[in-house]
Amino acid sequence: MLTETLPNMLDVRQAAVRGVTVSGALKPLDLQRFRPLLAADEGTVAAEFTFSRDDERRYLMQVAVTADVMVTCQRCLEKMPQHLSSESTLAIVWTDEEASHVPKHLEPLIVMEPPSSLWDVVEEELILALPPFSYHETDECRMKTAAYSDPFPEGDAGEKKPNPFNVLAQLKPGNKH
Ligand SMILES: [Zn+2]
Repeated sequence: MLTETLPNMLDVRQAAVRGVTVSGALKPLDLQRFRPLLAADEGTVAAEFTFSRDDERRYLMQVAVTADVMVTCQRCLEKMPQHLSSESTLAIVWTDEEASHVPKHLEPLIVMEPPSSLWDVVEEELILALPPFSYHETDECRMKTAAYSDPFPEGDAGEKKPNPFNVLAQLKPGNKH
């Protein structure tokens, strides 16, 4: 478990020349574009950057990010834990033109003036890793759907659907189950 805060501003080309590794932790509140996508301030983010140069003298930045945060369940609107993880290799380039020539297995990151923000990179990785919709895997949450919304939710095609009237009967007050 990382407890040191991830450094933010770094000359990433110099780091690549030196072949350094930088790691640390962040909190959702450190990430101003990511935090509004979450249901709560609580949570942990850990990141590790490994800098290197490749055979073609590119400046490379490998980034691995994991996070445990709270998001909103799109079915019951309660908060729920969500684990995120992402790994990417970025090629640090100077211009759009150079970015367009980066091989497909690399993602270009345009950096003109050092230093650049590692926190921004972490934030971008997390935003991309966040599923557009999250749902509890619990029966309690599923029952809420059956009780007050569309009894035939989309996405269950091919599965045998429970009879919504049976579900409603079980939810009647006083009916022990
Ligand atoms: Zn839910």
